[in-house]
Amino acid sequence: MGSQYLLPCHCGRELAVEKSQAGTQVECDCGQWVEVPVLRILTTLKKAAQSPKPTSWSRGQGILFICGVLLLIVGSVTSIQFYRSMPSPNIPGMPGLAADLDSRSDSLGAVETLRLWNFYQDSPDLMVRLPKAIESTHKRRAAIILFAWVLGCLFLLASLVCFTFALRRKRLGHST
Ligand SMILES: [Zn+2]
Repeated sequence: MGSQYLLPCHCGRELAVEKSQAGTQVECDCGQWVEVPVLRILTTLKKAAQSPKPTSWSRGQGILFICGVLLLIVGSVTSIQFYRSMPSPNIPGMPGLAADLDSRSDSLGAVETLRLWNFYQDSPDLMVRLPKAIESTHKRRAAIILFAWVLGCLFLLASLVCFTFALRRKRLGHST
């Protein structure tokens, strides 16, 4: 849409006309037909206020938006990485096997139960250390899962704040 010019009518109203309407007639709200002058004269008339065109995002808003996107990506990746790097509950070697058997003690067969029993008999100190090791591993696992969740949520929150700021500043910029 090109720029419009205000064509005064005898009734006092001003009609917005475009350059392409030069030399024609326009009807005013009062019912009177007003002749639109030729282009040379038309362009000397008062210009109609431009309708506010959608403002493009400023540099700051763009940076905020990019920050939000980056935070979102980094947050997701970090959470997933933390989740993946969790210590395995499996303890290597014979104690690991015993721990595995121990955790499935409900569904153990006779041979496995005997092996577990023999293991405990052979290494009495492990009977105390092993459950503690398993417990601490489970606790660490739970703590890391929680940490990953909190971290992910924090990043999500930060990115939301960035998005909100970017959008709000866009709206503020629009009204001024
Ligand atoms: Zn009129």
